[in-house]
Amino acid sequence: MPVGTQGTVKTVPQDTLEALGAEIILGNTYHLYLRPGHEAIRRMGGLHKFISWPHALLTDSGGFQVFSLNELRKVTDDGVRFRSHLDGSSHFFTPEHSIDVQIALGADICMAFDECTEYPADRSRAEESLRLTMAWARRSLDHFRAHRHEVPWSDPKGCGMQCFGIVQGGMYTDLRRQCAERLVEMNFDGYAIGGLSVGEPRELTLEMIAETLPLLPKDKPRYVMGVGYPYEIEQYARMGVDMMDCVLPTRAARHGLLFTSQGRLNIKNKQYAEDQGPPDPACDCMVCRRYSRAYLRHLMQAGEALSGTLNSIHNLAFYLGIMQRVRDSLAPATGNQEAGSLKLEARS
Ligand SMILES: [Zn+2]
Repeated sequence: MPVGTQGTVKTVPQDTLEALGAEIILGNTYHLYLRPGHEAIRRMGGLHKFISWPHALLTDSGGFQVFSLNELRKVTDDGVRFRSHLDGSSHFFTPEHSIDVQIALGADICMAFDECTEYPADRSRAEESLRLTMAWARRSLDHFRAHRHEVPWSDPKGCGMQCFGIVQGGMYTDLRRQCAERLVEMNFDGYAIGGLSVGEPRELTLEMIAETLPLLPKDKPRYVMGVGYPYEIEQYARMGVDMMDCVLPTRAARHGLLFTSQGRLNIKNKQYAEDQGPPDPACDCMVCRRYSRAYLRHLMQAGEALSGTLNSIHNLAFYLGIMQRVRDSLAPATGNQEAGSLKLEARS
């Protein structure tokens, strides 16, 4: 899932995302709540309509952003008080409020309010954090079930909005197990593994995913939040992960870092100043078909806005291409390449 923090995948227009084959994007509740405000978005028919994205949308709970405001927040059992990074105003998020905001935004999938345990965290800190996450998961889900019909769109197919729970537990496999089991009892629509990619060594990330995935139901989506590099997302998908989101392809792009079939390429390097070749010779995206490395380098050097757009388009094409190849390779021999085949094969 490309990340559309403030209702836009930075620098990339919606029709381009469609041309790239993006089927779902993510919006950040914290940012949209502060600006333009969830009530404004509700009045305008919800996030799909507001940003003109008639495809799937997922919103996070706001928790991750709030918890990254270290200096500006205060956590109690009831919720989190924090100050806006925009104007310093004070706000209070509870699980119920997070769900209310997400229902007003009206994505297809909302996330339970959780506490993302920092790394490193000692055992007692991880246990205390997990206690909050599990209590908040219960409250999030109860509130969601009571209010899910209040989404700002009509629902002719009756699929409705879904709510996913988030497995935390720091880097302790027994805490992860305990959390997964409790969340599965609550019967969420899907399950995420959170609290990874927070600075831990990669072997730990892998271990936590490998230990947690088998505990989550095979017939529901399994989502690893906030990962990763190209080789990582392919590995996780082959382990049975169905969904991932990451700002890396677009954020790196804006800094001139391109992911290619030949590895990472820093387009700012002088060696590309007169390189007439495409950014990635093995890529057939709309950027690689049309533009040279020399031109992309020039745009970056000149500080042109098109630089971020073209770099982002290529990186997104590269990421989405990886996922497409994984899906193709997992499809049954009958040629059935529907999304569902990913699950059947990856988990058999
Ligand atoms: Zn390309």
